[in-house]
Amino acid sequence: MPARSPLEQPAQFLKGVGPKRAEALARLGIRTARDLLYHIPHRYEDASTVTRIINAEVGHDVTVIGEVVSKGVLPTRSGLRIFQAVLRDVSGMIECSWPGQPFLDRSIGKGDLVLATGPVRFYHGRQLQPREHVVLGKAAESAVAGKVLPIYAATEGLSQKMIRHIVDENLDRLLPLLPAEDVFAADARARTLPSLMKAVAAVHRPDSIRAAEAGRVRLAYEEAFFLQLLHARAKRRATVETPGIAFGRTDTLIAAMYRRLPFELTDAQTRAIAEILADMTATRRMNRLLQGDVGSGKTVVALFAMLLAAEAGWQSALMAPTEILAEQHARTIGDWLDPLGVRSVLLTGRLPAPERRAAEQAIASGEARIVIGTHALIHEGAAFKRLGLAVVDEQHRFGVRQRLALAERAAVAGCGGVAGEQAAAAGDRAGGADEWSGTADRRMPDVLVMSATPIPRSLALTLYGDLDLSVLDELPAERRPIRTALRNEKSRDAVYAFVREQVAAGRQAYIVYPLVEESEKLELRAASAEYDRLAGEVFADLRVGLLHGQMPSDEKDETMRRFARGEIDVLVATSIVEVGIDVANATVMVVEHADRFGLSQLHQLRGRVGRGGEASYCILIAPGSPAARERLRILATTQDGFEIARADLRIRGMGDFFGAKQHGLPDFRFLDPQRDESIMVSARDHALAVVEDDPELSQPGHAPVRAALELRLAVKERMYEVG
Ligand code: ADP
Ligand code: MG
Repeated sequence: MPARSPLEQPAQFLKGVGPKRAEALARLGIRTARDLLYHIPHRYEDASTVTRIINAEVGHDVTVIGEVVSKGVLPTRSGLRIFQAVLRDVSGMIECSWPGQPFLDRSIGKGDLVLATGPVRFYHGRQLQPREHVVLGKAAESAVAGKVLPIYAATEGLSQKMIRHIVDENLDRLLPLLPAEDVFAADARARTLPSLMKAVAAVHRPDSIRAAEAGRVRLAYEEAFFLQLLHARAKRRATVETPGIAFGRTDTLIAAMYRRLPFELTDAQTRAIAEILADMTATRRMNRLLQGDVGSGKTVVALFAMLLAAEAGWQSALMAPTEILAEQHARTIGDWLDPLGVRSVLLTGRLPAPERRAAEQAIASGEARIVIGTHALIHEGAAFKRLGLAVVDEQHRFGVRQRLALAERAAVAGCGGVAGEQAAAAGDRAGGADEWSGTADRRMPDVLVMSATPIPRSLALTLYGDLDLSVLDELPAERRPIRTALRNEKSRDAVYAFVREQVAAGRQAYIVYPLVEESEKLELRAASAEYDRLAGEVFADLRVGLLHGQMPSDEKDETMRRFARGEIDVLVATSIVEVGIDVANATVMVVEHADRFGLSQLHQLRGRVGRGGEASYCILIAPGSPAARERLRILATTQDGFEIARADLRIRGMGDFFGAKQHGLPDFRFLDPQRDESIMVSARDHALAVVEDDPELSQPGHAPVRAALELRLAVKERMYEVG
């Protein structure tokens, strides 16, 4: 373990910090001197962002700086006490009002210079209601004018002002303790970045907002770089250092498939196929993520990959998350492959024993070139003769990481280990050709993971930086947009009438609810309760089905099958249909309480319709609150999953977007993965180049990088910190 730096000293020993303040600092995550240095302002104010008081207009959100010329606490008839202060700058005066915060009377004094940010309303004149305020000090002695003012995250018992004071008191002494040798000192790629010391100084005491931002960029770059360095090393292990298969392309099947395609590939599909085939024909192992919106045509891309494997004499496995999806894939893929003379088999738990045995035999003999099944089946049982490619049809509900582990297991089952030996034995029994009896073969199958969650590139690099990434960022041209409408609850009867019309025309509909069990508190219309009402009253003459996550999976599958066969007109469901299924005849997706869903989730739900040739509709029912409707309107204006994901992330934040921490999103201090795409991209290129050039970081020039990496790995929770 590297020697402890003096920066590790507890915050309590900093100037201006006693036990009490140390406790408050700890609430902000500041436990050491280093933490204080890295507690960077979350924003800045300077003359360019401050409005002159005379220009503070009603209806606008402004930041003003002024001297308190009078103040006091006003009682109101309702018992609410309001703190008020009048601020004055060179241009004029404005009243500020803090309802319910009479205690501010103690911390804001007459003669103080105060910065206040908030909306200006009209109330007996202009009145500012500060959302945030900072006491800058005594107006008389303050030299704030023209300076950039850092605004820190504060906490109870530790104001803005105190934090700024503590930083001020300690900064000069702490800065020289930062590592003198900059990690990037010897690195031409990072030459334009300020040094670490300069960067830290600039974020706390900037001459300009630009200088502060340049400092933050340096810190964020370092954060991104070390994350990408770990990804780059993992990537190298999975690809370069794991023996892979160089599939020999003969074009016998691929060319035939091109000729038979009933449509033109999109440019994005062509690009993705080229990337995948290039990976597969190279010796190094493929480890690639194919990302594409619902309906972007990922299956056919995977098909080309599987055909390359087949023409080179290898088997492929395509794994789907549910039996229904596996069956669906088997049907489409069978339709495409049968005419080419390529044998594909389906392997699921529903197959009757004799059929299942036949399938297993075809897999073991190698006769079945393409095996389609569920995740479980493939990893439990199937013994492949010669598995060369594992394709995981990821459904975004499951983490990509889980899927990778799965592909890894399937790969092991297909190649080495017991299953591999079984396969070899089976092959011998079947009198398999010599070229296939490769028990000593340590080569691992290529891996292709498909994901329907469109996430911005910077986030994809954050989460899956160890994978190569292909993106399908366009939909087939002939796809008709799904007409999306926003309705309030009063229009429900009209919506039902529309559903009825569509059913009368031979179509089918989904009606989706957020929860299964009725929750009085939220007054949501729960699926089961609504099912009773819809099936018994509203659509009593139609065939109505129910699907929710708490049903046994047999029942779920059976209901889905009946819907797919057209035996159900209206399927009442929870959001599980999102992980789903392709019913071309379904043309209406009604979502109740749409405001309860994330935008990306709604977009996935919408992707369940519009799969056939008929015009399709998505109707979002939500209460009339303007904010809720504003958010949902985004869906009505675009069908681009990436754009929707960006909006969703912006509105909900990453935690909600991904649902908990399961995706292993690192906690960045300086980097904003949503905003800092270019930083992430250049840090990744940089890290890849470093690892390619010097995988073990053993060159002298990389010593500081290596030391910093070791420090991060040693102090795991600090993995993404600098210095
Ligand atoms: P997803 O990416 O959601 O898995 P699929 O692979 O299921 O999408 O494709 C959706 C539908 O679009 C399928 O019926 C498929 O045959 C069709 N399709 C795929 N590529 C194209 C294309 N380039 N032009 C027209 N239709 C296409
Ligand atoms: Mg798909």
